[in-house]
Amino acid sequence: MLKGKTALVTGSTSGIGLGIAKALAGQGANIVLNGFGDVQGPKAEVEALGVKVAYHGADMSKPSEIEDMMKFAAAQFGRVDILVNNAGIQHVAPVEDFPPEKWDAVIAINLSSAFHATRLALPAMKAANWGRIINLASVHGLVASAQKSAYVAAKHGLVGLTKVTALENATTGITCNAICPGWVLTPLVQKQVDAKAAANGWSNEEATKQLLGEKEPSLQFTTPEELGQLAVFFCSPAANNVRGVAWNMDGGWAAQ
Ligand code: NAD
Repeated sequence: MLKGKTALVTGSTSGIGLGIAKALAGQGANIVLNGFGDVQGPKAEVEALGVKVAYHGADMSKPSEIEDMMKFAAAQFGRVDILVNNAGIQHVAPVEDFPPEKWDAVIAINLSSAFHATRLALPAMKAANWGRIINLASVHGLVASAQKSAYVAAKHGLVGLTKVTALENATTGITCNAICPGWVLTPLVQKQVDAKAAANGWSNEEATKQLLGEKEPSLQFTTPEELGQLAVFFCSPAANNVRGVAWNMDGGWAAQ
């Protein structure tokens, strides 16, 4: 379905971003990977799906590096047809103890990076009159949890950016939508399980059970593969008129 298209997925060396990159590659899209840590492993996993893969190591907190990445993607593959704004970090602390530099980093990586990548991707999408922008928000783009001020503010902001981008392009072939997962067992969440286990003297299993039980009625993690299939749907012709939604895949979290 996506043969000949190019998808750039930020933060795709791990977790949800890698799951979405693999799902889009499974539909034939060439992929631009981005993110820190091991690159060769994720690159080989996506290449095994028979598509072309490039990597750019832009730090998504730095607008000049995002500009460089967008130029690189255009030089490699002609243009970016599908932009998945996925890179994100978490920091947990009460508002009065929240380190200002952590606030700035969460807002820069989880929110401002999507603005920069989107503004840089739109001109080529408009010229082609086709584009898909998918923002990895969170159930925290819809509801709040204590201790996550910067994350919740960034994700609510990202849902807002999604709606504005969708509206500004509503009469074109460019759609913009957000995905709002509940808990997904990636390194980002394993750190929160570890902190719970350490604080309460619990095993990993007990801390995982408690974490799910507090918020997610299904008591199940959403998987990167499931989120990848939602991204594929947003890229399909059937989703042509799905514009500006914040679609949760959260085991019932926000339904409570
Ligand atoms: P993860 O930690 O597994 O992956 C994050 C990715 O972002 C990695 O590739 C990392 O290298 C990259 N990254 C981090 N900082 C970066 C920077 N400055 N520049 C470039 N890349 C950077 O996390 P994940 O759980 O897969 O999260 C992916 C997205 O999904 C995030 O936006 C997160 O907020 C969101 N999300 C996650 C969950 C969950 O339960 N895991 C739930 C809802 C939303």
